[in-house]
Amino acid sequence: MFHLHMKRVSTLIATRNKQWYSTVLFILLSTFALVSNAALAPETANPTANSTTHSKPRLILQITVDALRGDLPKRYVNVLGDGGFRYLMEQGIDYTNAHYQHANTETIVGHVSLATGSVPAAHGMVGNVWFDYGQGQLTYNIEDARYHLLTAGADVDSSTEIDPTQKAATVDGRSPAAILSSTFSDELAAHFNGQSKIFAVSVKDRGAVSLAGHAGKAFWFSKSSGEFVTSTYYYQQYPEWVNTWNSGKPALAYAGKSWELTHPATAYMFGESDDREYETDFPGFGRTFPHAYGQADDKYLTTRLTLSPAGDELTLDFAKTLMDNEQLGEDDVPDYLAISFSSNDYVGHIFGASSLEAEDNIARLDRTLAELLAYVDKKVGLDNTLIVLSADHGQPEVPGYLHELGIDNAHYIDTSALDKAPAIEALKKQFGMGEELIEAYYHPYVYLNRELIKEKGLDQALLEDIVAEELLKFNGVAAAVSSTALRTANLPDTLMNRAILRNFHPKRSGDIYIVFEPNVFINDFDGLTVASTHGSPWRYDTFVPVIFAGTGLQPKSVSRMITPYDIAPTLAAYLGVKPPSASIGNPLAEVLGD
Ligand SMILES: [Zn+2]
Repeated sequence: MFHLHMKRVSTLIATRNKQWYSTVLFILLSTFALVSNAALAPETANPTANSTTHSKPRLILQITVDALRGDLPKRYVNVLGDGGFRYLMEQGIDYTNAHYQHANTETIVGHVSLATGSVPAAHGMVGNVWFDYGQGQLTYNIEDARYHLLTAGADVDSSTEIDPTQKAATVDGRSPAAILSSTFSDELAAHFNGQSKIFAVSVKDRGAVSLAGHAGKAFWFSKSSGEFVTSTYYYQQYPEWVNTWNSGKPALAYAGKSWELTHPATAYMFGESDDREYETDFPGFGRTFPHAYGQADDKYLTTRLTLSPAGDELTLDFAKTLMDNEQLGEDDVPDYLAISFSSNDYVGHIFGASSLEAEDNIARLDRTLAELLAYVDKKVGLDNTLIVLSADHGQPEVPGYLHELGIDNAHYIDTSALDKAPAIEALKKQFGMGEELIEAYYHPYVYLNRELIKEKGLDQALLEDIVAEELLKFNGVAAAVSSTALRTANLPDTLMNRAILRNFHPKRSGDIYIVFEPNVFINDFDGLTVASTHGSPWRYDTFVPVIFAGTGLQPKSVSRMITPYDIAPTLAAYLGVKPPSASIGNPLAEVLGD
């Protein structure tokens, strides 16, 4: 068997070398169609620039719900009240067919796409984590050694942190420096000579830093300190109101309490199916209601708050205090407040999108949104506020849930098997590279050991191709695309290749992009087994709501396909501000009143 492998690989290499000159010729003659801007832009019509003038809103409120798949609010409409999702869907302009068009549907990628109106190929956030060849280590998207956290003891505690991307950070500091293009919030600052007040708040650091942009101020929740924190990029010392809010220890108010159902069980689609064996039995939290948060001295108390509607409630309370103290929306210069609600994402990972927990979380989030909108109405007036709600990505269904429905082709994948596979082992021996052929695998890229490949005088492109071909043989792998092929436009022009190209940044992307088949994903969160993981280019992960409301917009439901990249240029056009530097989206005609 081993000899057969070696022979096959050698034959493959020989064949490749023969093809080399014709490949080079093909590249020289090709039109580079795949790497043109046309391929990076979504496939929608490009309407003429808008010149309509509007009365300027006093506040732009950008709401992001982490992992809110486009169907979820309407699916769970029976547990919704008034003034939250219903207000937005019934009184706003509701785009019911909005999809991301980049391949890696992860949190930082989506948030920065919302902020910049662009794709990772241009804004540079290709994943929550990537391998930095210069540093020789994995890097977390917004980590920045220059700007420490402003609160001592607020750094990620790797003994309790369950978010594996956070654990990849090597320093406590955070900043937007790695976001390569401007955000709408940056453009707002530039347009109004810095007079717009710009803030972003989220449980997740990346949910806030992304939307604050380079010019705004970001606050996020530290599970270690139980406080909302920031870094020295934004402040040298906290505004007094932040200290006051934190000193009230609002997280501790949840100690000894539980997440309970909002309605009687019979009101829910999943009321009779609380306990599913595929839900994560997080220590002390359990698979069924009520989910206990734990006592004040429990080291997982704050983590459990983020796995429940409590995380969003804390975010709302902090955001209201911010609005008050920073006087948002109180003068004629438009201010900007971005709030990213993170709980829906964690609940999805732990329990799945089709669970009683997900359904009740939507019901609770709906109350949180209603409270937010009522507050904004009282302080600024909804007629003076331009609201947009969207999500950074969708989410898949849990394989176990699909199995119950007779849908069998769903399963988890164990990626540690990829590197240990006989064919990859044979490749390493063939090239005399031992264990070092693959530098790192971190979703969605395989990073080859470029230095060693060079040292040994081997051809990087050839190795990428061969490894990609071997990876493609694994059960559950739908595509393995080499970056050299992307760079040289040496690929068929398919939707999938376009999505992977939109994700490709030459300084950050790895060497081979792996796509798993639909309903197939990794469920290992660095030791914690979760129910579902998003991050694919499949429709359940690209599908998000986009709803504009406020400022007297006329209610409308729009089924035309749009992209979330349209949001930032729409906000810009609405205010007569120039679009963000790498924006590829189109201003939405319905919002502009065309
Ligand atoms: Zn997310």
